[in-house]
Amino acid sequence: MSEKSKAELEANKLMKRLRHAVGDAINDFGMIEQGDKIMVCLSGGKDSYAMLDILLGLQKSAPIDFDIVAVNLDQKQPGFPTHILPEYLQALGVDYHIIEEDTYSVVKRVVPEGKTTCGLCSRLRRGILYRVAKELGCSKIALGHHRDDILETMFLNMFFGGKLKAMPPKLVSDNGEHIVIRPLAYVKEKDLVRFATLREFPIIPCNLCGSQPNLQRQVVKEMLEDWDKRFPGRIESMFSALQNVVPSHLADPKLFDFVGLERGQELPHGGDTAFDKEDFSAPAAPANSGKVINILDNRSRDTEALSCK
Ligand code: SF4
Repeated sequence: MSEKSKAELEANKLMKRLRHAVGDAINDFGMIEQGDKIMVCLSGGKDSYAMLDILLGLQKSAPIDFDIVAVNLDQKQPGFPTHILPEYLQALGVDYHIIEEDTYSVVKRVVPEGKTTCGLCSRLRRGILYRVAKELGCSKIALGHHRDDILETMFLNMFFGGKLKAMPPKLVSDNGEHIVIRPLAYVKEKDLVRFATLREFPIIPCNLCGSQPNLQRQVVKEMLEDWDKRFPGRIESMFSALQNVVPSHLADPKLFDFVGLERGQELPHGGDTAFDKEDFSAPAAPANSGKVINILDNRSRDTEALSCK
């Protein structure tokens, strides 16, 4: 097999894996419904390019109709290449809006020199994106966070926030007006890196604002990457854990009525096994909630289309 054919085969396999991962997340969490208008937030980074690309592919083959509008917020960071996204999106033929708001100057003015700017910057960005979603009549806001972002957030909350809390695949926005979805919730970051290279996305660098990367997040990221290399399967197991929560075996009386426990009470996950050895067999796959619409219903057709490339 020639190098070119091998590369094409690899690209097709990766594309199929990504489409299935995104389709499964959409189905499991009921992310997209008939008639939705989805605002896909594009930063110019690999994750949001991939999200848009995969959603546009699924839109063509899904058994339901939904609209996609791509939105980028130009925050007026020095050196932001304003032509890249419009050129890319025009070539794609997708409905899009570039919103210009100089949050960069606001952040520089308000945050003292040497202090981290990301908190205020992302709050301003969130508010603007919510406003735009409303103006555009969008029912959902899609963000490009992936599986590894979700796990990093969980560890950050555990290490520094004292909370067992991650980043949900679907939730209402904090102002209560929108549904926020993360279609890449099941996607590994390394697949997105590979996909971005294969698809030659015109990546816009993410350090234009001159802010230092979040050091705590970076440390957690490196810890997870190290575990992934040394203990294959650990990352997958941790993500499964997020989908197999057992409140009776944690220690939060708000989630489980420890006070009202009675002898003989049936518990879904069994009683205390005291000093018995734990059986660490493979974690159970999360139950699919049996959504009526399966976004991948036409997956056999997709597979054929892909293998013809
Ligand atoms: S890295 Fe820069 S653009 Fe991104 S949130 Fe932080 S301050 Fe804002």
